[in-house]
Amino acid sequence: MTFNSARNKFFITLCIIGLLYLFFDASLWWLVLPGVVYLTLIIYGSAIIQANFYGPAYCYGNTIKKEIALSFDDGPNQEYTPQILSTLANYNALATFFVIGKNIEGNEKILKQIDTEGHSIGNHTYTHSYFVDFKNLQGFIQELNQTEESVFRVIGKRMRLFRPPYGVTTPHLVKASSTLNYNIIGWTVRSFDTTADSLQTITRRIETQIQPGAIVLFHDTSDKTIQALKQTLSFARDNDYKIVGIEQLLAIKAYQ
Ligand SMILES: [Zn+2]
Repeated sequence: MTFNSARNKFFITLCIIGLLYLFFDASLWWLVLPGVVYLTLIIYGSAIIQANFYGPAYCYGNTIKKEIALSFDDGPNQEYTPQILSTLANYNALATFFVIGKNIEGNEKILKQIDTEGHSIGNHTYTHSYFVDFKNLQGFIQELNQTEESVFRVIGKRMRLFRPPYGVTTPHLVKASSTLNYNIIGWTVRSFDTTADSLQTITRRIETQIQPGAIVLFHDTSDKTIQALKQTLSFARDNDYKIVGIEQLLAIKAYQ
């Protein structure tokens, strides 16, 4: 179900209850039920990117070919991104880095290295603030544009892949994304590499969920991710999975 159809059904239900109240003396307590259902749908649709509630998000590729894509959010990071890059190079694997605009300053060389080594770069907003989802349309457009300009100044390319912070979508975020011609990218496998979970739990979670067409979500922000990445790369090699960039997995363009 999409946001528009949920909203329409909600208002129709409210009208029906209103008419029943006016003409048949029905109790207004009936309003509670559609209210709760609607609120639940709004929360679920915002939090679960795979629901495609406010608009389409790419969360997996071709489910027949044994190809997967790896993605790293929240960089560039001075300490960990270079280690991720050298690990990927050891396995001859390409990945996609969804960068936070404010992290680019001082890390331009790393951003350039991501690009020159053949990986793709996507937009992950400028501030990645906890309150980013309360921004209006103009606020989201500014978040995307600022990061786009920062990346363009370093690599001379205009990104077209956008991963919403925390995977949360809102009507304004989706509208800003489509206005600026971005494709929203979700994931199939969330590694939860930023949680307190042990390395073993993280790698078991990834390995049990990997399937053809999967997009795996990591963060280039901790040493645990580097260890989990090494194990995922070995697992992919041992199980004949080819690792490709997200743009190749989804057959879309990473840049304008
Ligand atoms: Zn993030």
